[in-house]
Amino acid sequence: MTSIRLWRPVVGALAAAALLVPQAAAAQDPTPVAPAPAAATPDRPSYDVRLRSDADGSHWTGRQTISFRNSARTPLRFVDVRLWGNGHPDDGCGTPAKPSPVSVSRVKGGTPHPLTVRCSALRIDLPKPLPRGARASVSFDVSIAVPDRAHRFGRDGAHRFLGNALPLLSVQDAKGRHLDPDVGFGESFYTLAGDFRVVLDHPSGLKVPATGTTVRRAGAPGRTVSTSVAHGVRDFAWAAGPFRTKTITSPDGITLNAYWTAAVPAEGVAYNLKEGAEAIDEFGKRFGRYPYGEIDLVMNTALEGGMEFPGLVYLQTQEDSAVEHEIAHQWWYGIVGNDQFSEPWLDEGFATYATWVRWGGDHFCPEEPDWPDDASAMTRPMDSYANRSEFMKIVYTGAACALAELESTLGSQEMAAMLKKYARDHWFGVSTTADFKRAAQAATTKDLAPLWEKHRIY
Ligand SMILES: [Zn+2]
Repeated sequence: MTSIRLWRPVVGALAAAALLVPQAAAAQDPTPVAPAPAAATPDRPSYDVRLRSDADGSHWTGRQTISFRNSARTPLRFVDVRLWGNGHPDDGCGTPAKPSPVSVSRVKGGTPHPLTVRCSALRIDLPKPLPRGARASVSFDVSIAVPDRAHRFGRDGAHRFLGNALPLLSVQDAKGRHLDPDVGFGESFYTLAGDFRVVLDHPSGLKVPATGTTVRRAGAPGRTVSTSVAHGVRDFAWAAGPFRTKTITSPDGITLNAYWTAAVPAEGVAYNLKEGAEAIDEFGKRFGRYPYGEIDLVMNTALEGGMEFPGLVYLQTQEDSAVEHEIAHQWWYGIVGNDQFSEPWLDEGFATYATWVRWGGDHFCPEEPDWPDDASAMTRPMDSYANRSEFMKIVYTGAACALAELESTLGSQEMAAMLKKYARDHWFGVSTTADFKRAAQAATTKDLAPLWEKHRIY
């Protein structure tokens, strides 16, 4: 995501790599963890969801089924489902008078535990251990009430935004379970790519942009049934409201569906369509063709900044927006996944660097990174940052500066080839800092260790 306008960098000041051994290095010893499956599991999730909305898209109820495979060597005994829609600091478990926005009930396929992590995590014990390679499924009723705030899971006037609203399967890997908190800025989400089939029954007066390819048919009188299908995505978002719409096709054949509220200036709509079409084609050439065929640009004036979801981005739009940044996230977080809580630089830094490359020219980067303290590092988790501005300085700008310096070390053509291969090697998968460092080092005979040390990429 982004919450401030990302400036176009103008002045070049990349220094030669300098050795700088931070004291934090000593604290990077891997903490022993309990035996855990090394392969991220459960994988190959398949979501089958049917939801019906009220008159204005504020409340959605229905049934959700998630099937999955155990890809770990050890039997899978339970799954964690994340209810990120309850993650906002003002919501959590709610009160009797104001319950949490997302609730599940009538769980089948396993035994549910009480919710944890401020009602954002639901453990479901499977009836018997699931062997490696076997599939199972859980299902539950789901109720989603859109909170009354300007937010990616919130509203703007008559428009409803349902980002991070749908419960998602969490991951167990070498680090164990992922029960990370929502820190209130940036993203804590970590999911594996899978398939979604989401059927939304809504009043015909509401336009409903959504992740995936959507087919609409008439439902009950006055209602429309929109069926969205997506493959190779790690989340599903939608919106509902009296949006204005326009569709264009990029020169390389990607469909861009614009949806905007009446408050969005015409210049902003035109900017997003033009820049969006150019960016999705350019990033497709650089990182591998955009695989989903279409993308929805959901424009508003109320939500802070922009937010990326597979095949759908929310864009706070005036005369311009962060459209390139959010489209770059289609590759860096979406197609090439990462643990956004533990290694946010792999999505925010790469999306920022991608926009710098697209804009061209030089970038303003300090000769030496300006760390808040000795323990700071590029590869720290979300909850190590004091606030959003510190987070952005390191994980957006600092990481993009590290990648720009890597580009000047490798050469621009070599950097582009390396990134394209790196994307191909992790397409619809998950990458780590170690994976990226290996990929970069394989592209040059120069020792990159000093560069990693300088930028505290451990
Ligand atoms: Zn971002």
